[in-house]
Amino acid sequence: MPLSVHVVTAEREVYAEEGVDAVIAPGIQGELTVLPQHAPLLTMIKPGVLRLIKGSDETDVAITGGFLEVKDDRVTILADAAERAEEIDTVRAEEARRRAERTLEGRGDTEELVAAAASLQRSLLRLRAVEKRRRRTPRGPSGPPGV
Ligand code: ATP
Repeated sequence: MPLSVHVVTAEREVYAEEGVDAVIAPGIQGELTVLPQHAPLLTMIKPGVLRLIKGSDETDVAITGGFLEVKDDRVTILADAAERAEEIDTVRAEEARRRAERTLEGRGDTEELVAAAASLQRSLLRLRAVEKRRRRTPRGPSGPPGV
């Protein structure tokens, strides 16, 4: 019996699929793989790229942390913010990265620096999710122009 997977934020449902073969999540203690018949689990996940594998399809979701629950082959991921790779605005993520890097190079107070470090981490993981997808689907919509 494959998995039923829901990725939700306070704002929206980001991913909802039945028949998922594997969930690979950025667990706080390292990569966490959930396969069918996994024991019940409730754990925190850290900012990173969540991989959802269904047959030969892989969906990458940039996730800025949250919780993952497994119960009876249902996996629920409650995230602070989450975007499927194809939804990510690369220009926005690049701008966020540059803004955060500029702040980190400056002489901001601790609070500003901590916020900038978190923002840098979010922007980098978004760019990583886009890059992973681009490598997998070089002829897709985000592939080279004219293809
Ligand atoms: P920014 O500085 O660009 O606002 P952020 O890291 O502060 O980025 P978040 O607070 O993590 O943004 O997210 C706010 C909302 O914007 C969430 O709904 C999130 O899914 C969305 N979001 C953030 N960055 C992007 C992006 N590059 N592409 C698409 N959606 C994004």
